[in-house]
Amino acid sequence: MDFRVGALTDVGRVRDHNEDSFCVNRKANLYIVADGMGGHAAGEIASAQLKDLVEEFLLRDDHDGGTVERLCEGIRAANHAIHRMGVNDPRKRGMGTTGTVFTLDKDHYVIAHVGDSRCYLLREGELFQITKDHSRVYQLYESGLITKDEMEDHPMSNVITRSIGNHSTVDPDIYEGDLVAGDRFLLCSDGLSGEVRDEKLQELLVTHADPQACAEALVEAALEAGGKDNVTVVVLDVRGGQDERRQTKPMTLEELQQEPETQIGVTEQVVIETHSSKPKTDPRRPVLRDEEPSSDPGGSGRRARPAAPLWKSPWLVGPAILMAVGVTLILTAPRTGSLRINSERPNAEVYIDGIFEGKVPLVLQELKPKVVKVKVMADGKISTRQVEILPGLTQSLYFPRKDFQRGP
Ligand code: CA
Repeated sequence: MDFRVGALTDVGRVRDHNEDSFCVNRKANLYIVADGMGGHAAGEIASAQLKDLVEEFLLRDDHDGGTVERLCEGIRAANHAIHRMGVNDPRKRGMGTTGTVFTLDKDHYVIAHVGDSRCYLLREGELFQITKDHSRVYQLYESGLITKDEMEDHPMSNVITRSIGNHSTVDPDIYEGDLVAGDRFLLCSDGLSGEVRDEKLQELLVTHADPQACAEALVEAALEAGGKDNVTVVVLDVRGGQDERRQTKPMTLEELQQEPETQIGVTEQVVIETHSSKPKTDPRRPVLRDEEPSSDPGGSGRRARPAAPLWKSPWLVGPAILMAVGVTLILTAPRTGSLRINSERPNAEVYIDGIFEGKVPLVLQELKPKVVKVKVMADGKISTRQVEILPGLTQSLYFPRKDFQRGP
């Protein structure tokens, strides 16, 4: 696996210097976005140090251990060095940086993440945010208290809850997953994600085939939106993308009818995973939560925990995820992303809870949108939503905690 890469950084329209740094090292398959903070140019030193030290560390061949261990060790070494600089030099006191570090371990990706610079994945036209921001507003968003759009202008929007260099130790989150030809990853600082909404990001990522042209369009969009912050983007295309994209044209009705019946699977608690005969990878494997610190502070940091499906069956299609708090449901169907609704049940209800175990047949026999009622149950409470299911699209549903009510 290798990548086509586009990358760009811009000071923006308001700031007078750029505290972001990025690394594109094709040989080592190492890609970094870092967003520094601290007065007197300390921020740009911190982010550049992170980039340089992690790159240097990973290029050394004097360490054993797996990719994850090396990544975590590299980030800890950089944290230590940046922290020492802050302690030793009053002008650099309190300096720190975010770090989103992307690399490969054989055929799958590994991301080490601290702070609020993000990694997104565009897969088959659908955008997933892989990393979870270490910020106060993201915590509010995850607990269902604010929407993603409300994060932008929130008074606490720049309160970072974890960073590199501000404390003597740091524990990066680790995300791992399989690569699929045609995948496009976006690493970016909050100068992009804080200015440009996800829908617009998705549109630009889908419409600009060339990764460098895409990077330029993304930066341009951030500038047009105000350019209040430094903006940095790295766009990574997994090779084979163009061919792969050509193959994923929508199915004909005949093809659709020949596909195995689509069903949705659910566990009664946190994570659902379902699989088709052509299994797809869930790009958003869950990470350990903050309240479960690594039991081994010198070890590999927080590692993604594999999903624990209640049941699996080869005829099930696509991954679906249900979080018990601030429930997220992602329905993904086969190659084209079609989700089919049983037309024999005109107002098909999709029960997402332990009682039905999700075994509700969904077959959309015409390539037309279909409205279904989706019920999600968590902690004995129910949230109900009418959803228009569109053929050929993957859809994400978000159920805020406040919408859950006691059932009759
Ligand atoms: Ca920033």
